[in-house]
Amino acid sequence: MAAYDFRCRTCDTVFTVHHPIHEPATGIQCPHGHTDVTRVWSAVSMVGAAGSAGSGCACGGSCCCGG
Ligand SMILES: [Zn+2]
Repeated sequence: MAAYDFRCRTCDTVFTVHHPIHEPATGIQCPHGHTDVTRVWSAVSMVGAAGSAGSGCACGGSCCCGG
């Protein structure tokens, strides 16, 4: 088994699914039962960020995000 992170496009919930590594990850549902989910490739940028506030800003520091 391997752990995969998914994000629900419907409710934006990120969740982890344990799935056999040799089988396609089909029929994945979010904890709320939505099926429109997308695979999340975990990265070090996720460390320490429980939420997504400010993480997607590409302003270079010139807007309210503080850079
Ligand atoms: Zn959902």
